[in-house]
Amino acid sequence: GMQDSTEPTIFDKIVSKEIPATVLYEDNLAMAFKDVNPVAKTHFLVIPKIKAGLSQLSKANEDHKMLLGHCMYVAQMVAKQEKLEKGFRVVINDGVDGCQSVYHLHLHVIGGQQLSWPPG
Ligand code: 5GP
Repeated sequence: GMQDSTEPTIFDKIVSKEIPATVLYEDNLAMAFKDVNPVAKTHFLVIPKIKAGLSQLSKANEDHKMLLGHCMYVAQMVAKQEKLEKGFRVVINDGVDGCQSVYHLHLHVIGGQQLSWPPG
């Protein structure tokens, strides 16, 4: 459910390399790494390295606009790097109804195969 936005998550430990992940891209602001439980042939996550209060998308304010845009840009850049030339999907799960499980904003990028639409 709704989490304390200051509470560290597993993704903070991935950023600090305390726990390993297959990192596909990293810069000062964002990191992309493979999802440990992929739902498609290709499944990676893009996160802001510093949560900055963004436990979930619905906590966004004006100050987050640049970071949100950057994460979206990184998503398509890494999609190209991962050769998703036939297309891909970007998903943000928000809150309980959105099936969010980690309360550190993240974009899912899935592809590498034909996907179906709509989701349940
Ligand atoms: P959510 O359900 O919050 O939208 O997505 C969280 C995602 O994080 C899930 O797809 C889950 O598989 C992934 N995940 C959870 N823990 C870890 C981890 O320790 N390492 C990696 N690479 N992915 C994780």
